[in-house]
Amino acid sequence: MTRTYDVVILGGGIGGYSAAIRAAQLGKTVAIVEKDKLGGTCLHRGCIPSKALLRSAELYGTMKRSEEFGIAAESVTLRFDKVQERKQAVVEQLYKGLQFLIKKNKIDLIIGNGRVIGPSIFSPRSGAVAVELADGEAETLVSTNLIVATGSSPRMLSGLQPDGKRIFTSEEALELVELPQSIIIIGGGVIGVEWASMLSDFGVKVTIVEAGQHLVSSEDEEVSRELERLFKKRGIKVLTSSSVHTDRAEVSEHGVSLPVRVKEKDDLLEADAVLVSIGRQGNTGNMGFENTDVRVENGFIKVNHQMQTTESHIYAIGDVNGGMQLAHVAAHEGVLAAEHIAGVSGAAGSGATAGAAAGLGKPSSAVYGAHLVPRCIYGRPEIASVGWTEKQARDKGFEVKIGKFSFKALGKAVVLGETDGFVKVVADAKTDDLLGVHIIGPHATDSIGEAAVAQLLDAAHWEVGRTIHAHPTLSEAIGEAMLAVDGRSLSM
Ligand code: FAD
Repeated sequence: MTRTYDVVILGGGIGGYSAAIRAAQLGKTVAIVEKDKLGGTCLHRGCIPSKALLRSAELYGTMKRSEEFGIAAESVTLRFDKVQERKQAVVEQLYKGLQFLIKKNKIDLIIGNGRVIGPSIFSPRSGAVAVELADGEAETLVSTNLIVATGSSPRMLSGLQPDGKRIFTSEEALELVELPQSIIIIGGGVIGVEWASMLSDFGVKVTIVEAGQHLVSSEDEEVSRELERLFKKRGIKVLTSSSVHTDRAEVSEHGVSLPVRVKEKDDLLEADAVLVSIGRQGNTGNMGFENTDVRVENGFIKVNHQMQTTESHIYAIGDVNGGMQLAHVAAHEGVLAAEHIAGVSGAAGSGATAGAAAGLGKPSSAVYGAHLVPRCIYGRPEIASVGWTEKQARDKGFEVKIGKFSFKALGKAVVLGETDGFVKVVADAKTDDLLGVHIIGPHATDSIGEAAVAQLLDAAHWEVGRTIHAHPTLSEAIGEAMLAVDGRSLSM
């Protein structure tokens, strides 16, 4: 059977379904082809289930120190089966909501494995999609535009193939039935750090091994150092500048032993399990791109600012295009591609002006630039940032001035009993422009929204500092750090 649409989207993750909803809002006929479950990595194997587990871990951690808050909670018991049940209930609730949205927007959802085909009897242009349906039947979808949103998968290490018993990636780890007593986490990036925090709160003995000089090396160095300090204080073993010899790893029914080179010295790590979190690769294999002129490099699809591939009617959004692997980036790029297809102009600018020019009487939501994207790392402590790190700003030639404010000096943080961490502001010494905001501490991932708005609106640091922040709130720390840039913080 052949069906025709304005837009076909290959992959129903957050990028794909966001593009679909926006295209439908703009009057397009839309189909999503999804081989697994609508919602993709974020909903089923990423952001949501991991945050649900983290919430239980955090609560468990807090209950263990409940005496501090005047509450005697003897025999606090972790029921990991119930933790997993709750996680699944959270996912199911959001999954239902998403299915409703897709129906409401009259988007056809076709469950099956999709492959892109070249020029054929169905269409003189490449980009039609052949779908192998679950019942073995086939269907061909022909569209004016194709959006590829096939996401990414965990990168593996040879010698440590995931078996769901001793060796995990985040995908198997999310389905853990029983917690190991000890674990080695290979990779100190966002996913590795989140799991280190979560498992440590659940009582697992954690060692985290990172090849680079610091954990979460894309963050400001002061933030990375503070994270390492706080992890060590919690009893997490942090090995940086260290590499594992996976070729000499031994996996048995009793556990894993893993030789590791730590700062020029050999060591042997032993644990019940290993979590491999060394990054993710684009899902581009076996999808028929060789039938098109779409350029794929190192497993990722090359795109321009409008998310167009080298075949201008084919777009690629989200993890598969090799940009920032974040759910909100995928969603944003989906909106951007849909608006570009629908002829909403000016959608790919990098600041407020481009947004205002984006048509339909209102600024487009598709204002985009790496310095505007908030980055969040969950766990204890939370980390969030937007804009350039101090080093990036200096490397770009800015003369910078810095403001810092510690949560120790903040009333709300003391009330919460969460005084670790700080807010750091990087500003342009010549123009007062805000270059970056970095938070490590309580609810950083919620607080960063204010800094992201400030970046989008091109605010000066003193404008945010002068904004009246309610008391007592965690957001006061942002105001105080902004004032601290000019030595005007009232509380430090
Ligand atoms: P995906 O969500 O991966 O969706 C791609 C979809 O395409 C999948 O459903 C797949 O089945 C489908 N597909 C692939 N090939 C085909 C085919 N041939 N035919 C049909 N369908 C196909 N990001 C955040 O911003 N915040 C977080 O807190 C966060 N936490 C994370 C935690 C973990 C453990 C992981 C792994 C990731 C996390 N991320 C987080 C990253 C985030 O999940 C991804 O950036 C986001 O899901 C990318 O969305 P996407 O639409 O590009 O791809």
